[in-house]
Amino acid sequence: MKILQGVGISQGVVIARASLAYERPLPVIEAVPSLLGAEAERTRLDQAIALTLKQLRKLRGKLDTLPDEGRIEIDALLSVYERMLNHSRLVRAAHRRLAEDGLTAEAAVQLESDALAAQAGPQPGMPEEEIEGAKRREGEFREVARRLLRNLTGVSFRAFSDIPGGSVLVAEQIRPADAAVIDPNRIAAVLSEGGGVTDHTAIMLRALNVPAVLAVPTLIDHMQEGCLVIVDGTTGRVVLHPDSATLAEARSAMAEEARERKGIGRLRRLPSRLVSGEDIELLANVELPNELPLLHRNGAAGIGLLRTEFLFDESEALPDEDGQYAVYARLVADMQEMTTTIRVLDWGGEKGLARLRQLGITDEQEEENPALGVRGLRLLLRHPEILETQLCAILRASLEGKLRILLPMVSSVNEVLATRQIYERCAKRLRRRGVKLPADLPPLGVMIETPAAALTAGALVRQAEFLALGTNDLTMYTLAVDRSSAMGSDLYTGLHPGLLKLLRLSVDEALRAHRPICVCGEMASDPRAVALLIGMGLRSFSMSAALLPPVKRMIRSLSLDACDELHRRAMLEEDPLALSAMVRHFAV
Ligand code: PEP
Ligand code: MG
Repeated sequence: MKILQGVGISQGVVIARASLAYERPLPVIEAVPSLLGAEAERTRLDQAIALTLKQLRKLRGKLDTLPDEGRIEIDALLSVYERMLNHSRLVRAAHRRLAEDGLTAEAAVQLESDALAAQAGPQPGMPEEEIEGAKRREGEFREVARRLLRNLTGVSFRAFSDIPGGSVLVAEQIRPADAAVIDPNRIAAVLSEGGGVTDHTAIMLRALNVPAVLAVPTLIDHMQEGCLVIVDGTTGRVVLHPDSATLAEARSAMAEEARERKGIGRLRRLPSRLVSGEDIELLANVELPNELPLLHRNGAAGIGLLRTEFLFDESEALPDEDGQYAVYARLVADMQEMTTTIRVLDWGGEKGLARLRQLGITDEQEEENPALGVRGLRLLLRHPEILETQLCAILRASLEGKLRILLPMVSSVNEVLATRQIYERCAKRLRRRGVKLPADLPPLGVMIETPAAALTAGALVRQAEFLALGTNDLTMYTLAVDRSSAMGSDLYTGLHPGLLKLLRLSVDEALRAHRPICVCGEMASDPRAVALLIGMGLRSFSMSAALLPPVKRMIRSLSLDACDELHRRAMLEEDPLALSAMVRHFAV
């Protein structure tokens, strides 16, 4: 038995036989002059480009059989490759090399793609948050070059089609586009020696829902064709030739997973209702489209918070109105009858710094204390062109389904009024362009995540159609404790009498004005805190899709009387530690 440790990137335990996907290496390409002449090399290169584009089209044709989330990811990636093959910098530079240096087409592609990949890749001194994106761009240049070079040299691509059904696919490296030819119904799991948690391949495999462990050192050295292997996509553990005790353990983990899946499946179909009969709305917080399958599996009733700052790859330019529209429209359409709450960009603080630098918005990053500076809606109002583009894209997407718009980091009613003016101007402009928007525009809501917003919730709710309690930031700003600093973590708690008072104020104002109010900070995923908040009058909660089942289980065991009683006692408690203990020990 041999145990290897990699990075678990897509959950699930699998016991199956390994099948190695081997790719014949390319010959070494030397920068030698062509014997055929520049004209003939240009023809060879253009034919290789045409063939590569044809192969990518064929790959695209296979996407229809993939789950939606996988299709969205892979489709976008194939578009990047296609762009790189169409009059791109790479193609233009390679053509120039052929004409000016008389090289072979292989040498021209190799030299130019190496240069562009090196330029696009991580650079010394590059900020940490930009490195992943740079690595991805570098990988894209290398992948396009690999495809061109295989076609130029006639060295075949690796085929996954002859891998026996039900086996674990093992490879030195799995490339993102390979995911298009991985059939999740045939391949039990994926293992590779290269790769990492946040790269494209990992995102694709998660989207395909295939258990996978990447970055397993010495994997290929230890692996033999057909050997029995246990893959644990959660812990990243890989066991080759397992002994009988380890096999028994893995089988019981698989049975446990199956039970869990069945339980969640049953729970999804049950209403989110208190034992006393009141319905509680459970929504999901979403950052990326590939979270939607889990959202549907866990039975969310809609999207309570779409954090748009994570939707667009920061290594690329921010999409224009059409580009953003395409992403929002697809998401909204996927949600069918359910509502999607799209929050406009909440940059600043710890989020979106690379993007701000890219857009030349640098003042905000130089602030000594960015969490207390120009972030969220304040930043957008200083750069209204960004807000207008986003609002126009969202308004157009509203024709594809139900949506609401949410404003982050509001601290005064003037900000809401200014935003509404811009919003109405956007709608007018779109109508002039012939977009048939309904008379009633999608509701505009305000996040309550600063103490000022909570204390003036009455005024805000008169200017907004709904409120959303952002307890993550509200806790930070109320308690003066950084939400992301480990040092302050003991001090950072939503269960503080000061915070409860601010929440209570906001809830009372929303209920008085008959406006919807929901909680979309992390507090919404703590089942016992949810009981307290129901007692406070809240009926809508939004959280990570993965955390919906335990909250729903709790709700189905609660009565409104028990929630009211917990809330009543909690509001009387002055000591934060005693308050925490009271909620922790709340027994149904
Ligand atoms: C919050 O602050 O509670 C919130 C939901 O917004 P974010 O976590 O995106 O800042
Ligand atoms: Mg926030």
